[in-house]
Amino acid sequence: MSESKLSGRVILITGAGDGIGRVAARHYAEAGASVLLLGRTTEKLASVYDEILAKGLAKPGIIPMDLATAEPKEMQELADVLYEKYGRLDGLLHNAAILGSRVPFESYDMNTWMKVMQVNFNAACILTRTLLPLCHLAASSSIIFTSSGVGTNPRAYWGAYAVSKHALEGFARLLADELENTSKIRVNILNPGGTRTRMRAEAFPTEDPSTLKTAEELMPLYLYLMSDDSIQVHNQMFDPSSLEKLDA
Ligand code: NAP
Repeated sequence: MSESKLSGRVILITGAGDGIGRVAARHYAEAGASVLLLGRTTEKLASVYDEILAKGLAKPGIIPMDLATAEPKEMQELADVLYEKYGRLDGLLHNAAILGSRVPFESYDMNTWMKVMQVNFNAACILTRTLLPLCHLAASSSIIFTSSGVGTNPRAYWGAYAVSKHALEGFARLLADELENTSKIRVNILNPGGTRTRMRAEAFPTEDPSTLKTAEELMPLYLYLMSDDSIQVHNQMFDPSSLEKLDA
């Protein structure tokens, strides 16, 4: 397949220790990229790192960072280190997120609200702000924001999760508009849809996970958006139905 589609690329993935992010990191590495694994649980990142090294792929980087508490200064320090080491960033997958509570808004705990907004929205904006100069230094760079069906159409009881994803889509649109015709950075939004992960099980505890698609099945889309195959694609929204169009 895609063995060399990302050859020599430097790609940062947030939430790379578990779920979709973990699978994407492995697939990007298999396609030739040097992947930078950002997440809050170092043991999980180390296990992805080991898995990638064991396959003889490009050595990944581990970035332990809790997006709930990381200050802009810490993110700037990360950008400085990446500049020294790689000199550019070819891809950025904003994937990390938390679900928060699924209760009526009137019962929503406001500390949880602020944490969800911080991880899912504010941290993604600040990280983008600090890493954009590195994206400008790449021949072309792809930024992917991960949304959700309730991000596009917020629904009752999805609380800060839906609002944070709605805001993220708005931010992605704003950024895409600003970068259009002025840079070689493309910005797109991806809604993975119901996928067999821990977050989905938390949101739908009575659902049979075997009825859901796996993160692996989404990977053609994740690779498409990160590789030159999508070089002309900008300010678009993708979801699993886009997989069929890729096949066509
Ligand atoms: P997941 O299995 O819960 O994985 C989320 C990842 O984000 C984990 O690696 C987690 O790290 C990381 N993360 C959470 N809080 C963090 C923090 N404070 N700092 C750094 N990293 C943090 O979720 P998933 O299902 O793979 O979801 C991936 C993306 O797809 C999310 O943006 C989600 O909203 C979106 N999505 C998923 C579905 C679905 O059905 N699965 C549907 C629509 C959209 P730890 O493992 O260390 O906790």
